[in-house]
Amino acid sequence: MRPTIESQPSSEIKSFQELKLKEQLFFLSEKSVFYRKLFKKHRIDVTRIKTLEDLALIAPTTKDDLQQHNHDFICVPRNKIIDYITTSGTLGDPVTFAMTDRDLDRLAYNESLSFAVADGSENDTYQLMTTIDRRFMAGLAYFLGVRKLGAGIIRVGNGMPELQWDSIQRFQPNAFITVPSFILKLIEYAEENGIDYRSSSIRKAICIGEPLRNPDFSLTTLSRRISEKWDIQLFSTYASTEMGTAFTECRCGCGGHHHPELIIVEFLDENDLPVKENEAGEVTITTLGVEGMPLLRFKTGDVCYHYHEPCLCGRTTMRLGPVLGRKQQMIKYKGTTLYPPALYDILDNMDNIVNYYVEVYTNSIGTDEILIHIGSHQVTETFEKQIKDHFRAKLRVAPQIIFEPVKQVERALFPEGSRKSMKFVDKRNNHK
Ligand SMILES: [Zn+2]
Repeated sequence: MRPTIESQPSSEIKSFQELKLKEQLFFLSEKSVFYRKLFKKHRIDVTRIKTLEDLALIAPTTKDDLQQHNHDFICVPRNKIIDYITTSGTLGDPVTFAMTDRDLDRLAYNESLSFAVADGSENDTYQLMTTIDRRFMAGLAYFLGVRKLGAGIIRVGNGMPELQWDSIQRFQPNAFITVPSFILKLIEYAEENGIDYRSSSIRKAICIGEPLRNPDFSLTTLSRRISEKWDIQLFSTYASTEMGTAFTECRCGCGGHHHPELIIVEFLDENDLPVKENEAGEVTITTLGVEGMPLLRFKTGDVCYHYHEPCLCGRTTMRLGPVLGRKQQMIKYKGTTLYPPALYDILDNMDNIVNYYVEVYTNSIGTDEILIHIGSHQVTETFEKQIKDHFRAKLRVAPQIIFEPVKQVERALFPEGSRKSMKFVDKRNNHK
């Protein structure tokens, strides 16, 4: 299952998208309170936006806009809304996403394409190890996509290694849909309980939420740990509720494939201007064919590289590289631009580091400074030097390091009542 547009020359893909864009702009100018106001305010005549380049004439939409004007983004009356989804907003209150019947069909189509990119077919049986309820989009999208693909699905949900193994043995699925770190938990459980996981029916995993690859496409510490233990094919995906679209790696593992009929992607610099192909830019999206809550030039906050040369799988569509990090978390350090995930991958990879968190602050000359708090049982100068050398080798710069008791780092990572670890502490001026 591969739409013909995915192997057309890039000029064909561009004009195809420009046609779709026209329809989307017309829809927004008719139905969206938010965008009608925006067009009026900036005196934009949508009929004059003809090319993808013309999009630059329209001010981008931010996460704050979604939160502050949530209702104005919804383009359909209440009785057309089938499914309600929320995402965490920038200001505390969640943002609502409304899905119509057509949007659910679009989501199913998107996800079935995404499975197909990752070698999926009707012969597969997927074990769904993410939440399908709790107002999330992902689990529902997977279910709909698997159904459209004609494959089988076992909806186990997240956690519960015992039930996961029971389901694997009972139904013999060949694929996981999961957060990759959970695979390590499953391996651990199997080892403790004498389950021969390597001889199980599982052959591949569609992974979400955590990076499998570094920006140069090398494996992250996490995916290497999984692969060393268990030889299954790991497929990385990138998706979000706002996009309602997934970018999934094919077997070649060189970026998530773009589906031109579903979304327009731009990559913008700090001044909202397009970056060149070999530069990192903020993923900025325009949804196509979305009815309930379509978005125009929405800035996702994720920074990626993108690639246009045709893939070995035969697709000619743009590929999205691994996420370097969140734009807000960009660190300018000694002439190098860094994102926290690159630091995490180095720290995760070193033995004798029990835990850590990364602090960034503004120094006396007004530039960024990095201080890494490390909990370790091996507090020596040699070890400190070893860590710094490792940073220099990988990133060309070495941050400051401070050793602290493991318990103290633990307390900083999980402040009262927090379930999510606070690995990144931003104390810079003008940063949240
Ligand atoms: Zn490919």
